[in-house]
Amino acid sequence: MVMTKMKAADVVIVGGGVIGLSIAYVLAREGMAPVLLDRREPGREASWAGAGLIPPIGEARRDVPAHPLAALRAWSARLYPEWTAALLDETGIDPGFRRSGGVDVARTDREAEALHASAGQWRAEGIAFERIPPGDYARVEPALASDLRSVYFLPDRAQVRNPRLLQALIAAVERRGARIEPHRGAEGFVVEGGRIAAVRTADGEIPCGTVIVAAGAWSGGLLEPAGVRTPTPPIKGQIVLLKADRPILRRIVEHGRNYLVPRDDGRILIGATEEDVGFDTRPTAIGARVLLDEAIALCPALGEAEVETTWAGLRPGSFDSRPYLGRATRMENLILATGHRRAGLQLAPATAELVVDVVLNRAPRVDLSPFRPDRTPGSDAADAFRS
Ligand SMILES: Cc1cc2nc3c(=O)[nH]c(=O)nc-3n(C[C@H](O)[C@H](O)[C@H](O)COP(=O)(O)OP(=O)(O)OC[C@H]3O[C@@H](n4cnc5c(N)ncnc54)[C@H](O)[C@@H]3O)c2cc1C
Repeated sequence: MVMTKMKAADVVIVGGGVIGLSIAYVLAREGMAPVLLDRREPGREASWAGAGLIPPIGEARRDVPAHPLAALRAWSARLYPEWTAALLDETGIDPGFRRSGGVDVARTDREAEALHASAGQWRAEGIAFERIPPGDYARVEPALASDLRSVYFLPDRAQVRNPRLLQALIAAVERRGARIEPHRGAEGFVVEGGRIAAVRTADGEIPCGTVIVAAGAWSGGLLEPAGVRTPTPPIKGQIVLLKADRPILRRIVEHGRNYLVPRDDGRILIGATEEDVGFDTRPTAIGARVLLDEAIALCPALGEAEVETTWAGLRPGSFDSRPYLGRATRMENLILATGHRRAGLQLAPATAELVVDVVLNRAPRVDLSPFRPDRTPGSDAADAFRS
């Protein structure tokens, strides 16, 4: 069968989640006009489903070598205020970046020890925190349960309204002259002489200079037939949204992998499960029960709030704790930006800046070797801020 040849593009971005859109945004700033393909409406998958937690920024300390992910995270968190202000300025859409502050809590002695160890990591990274003495918890968050073992206050914990961030990115990318093509999925690649000559779609082939794959949990499956082995297993996360008729919580509450995120409008997100169940995005009764039990144990007043809705999304995994960022070795014009797991929203600005360094053949501003798609899997799963 002869495929229709479509208009060629210098850069094709496959996937319009927060990662693909952020890359398009920075490429357009650099004067390029990428084409972004999404098989559905952009910004409706994991990036929409996420909670929007942004970690606190530390004072860079030269005496402590940064964990590669910590360096990426710190840079990305530093970019957030200016990115979201610029997006508001350009589009009139406010992504709702806000430093609401957070409390990290422990309910058992074992959890208290783990939290104490995290505090050591925060100190090393120059992140502001305060250990709150028992009896004084109400000073930072009056709604907390009284039987907690340990509470730390992190004044710089922040959040973003991710659905609004995505809307703002879509608007800004289009204003800057990039082309977004919804409902046009990449179905594969035409590979010629060790490079991708074209991206295959149902409507024809798009000849391209560079291809950036940012297709979230679908990236691994899309790349495998082209001989690029970068698995991105889906990690399902469910959220329950509560609505209260009065502000109950002021701070983000984190308890291990679970969290409560109070929005300005009285809504509270309860997140998130972590499930290995394939490409299944159905919210389940057991998921909602686990999250609701947790929320009420941490903050009993939430028992009175209304359950507004529940949803689930698929975080893109990788074969270790880190995303895949950079060129694929066997395909010189293929760049990967995927596998961000629980941290794709927080890491989006730095990821986009780095990928654009790679596209433009500039020296990347963070060492990319720990993120190379062909790396040996790393074992350093511990990072202080995931969501
Ligand atoms: C419940 C939950 C809570 C989370 N909370 C946070 C948080 O607080 N902070 C944080 O930093 N991260 C959080 N995350 C993780 C974060 O949401 C993800 O890491 C991030 O959204 C991944 O972005 P992405 O652009 O890679 O993927 P996605 O947002 O999934 O986007 C991928 C896009 O690619 C498109 N696509 C797929 N296949 C194709 C194809 N063949 N052709 C064209 N397009 C294709 C899809 O339609 C989709 O639009 C959370 C995730 C979940 C599920």
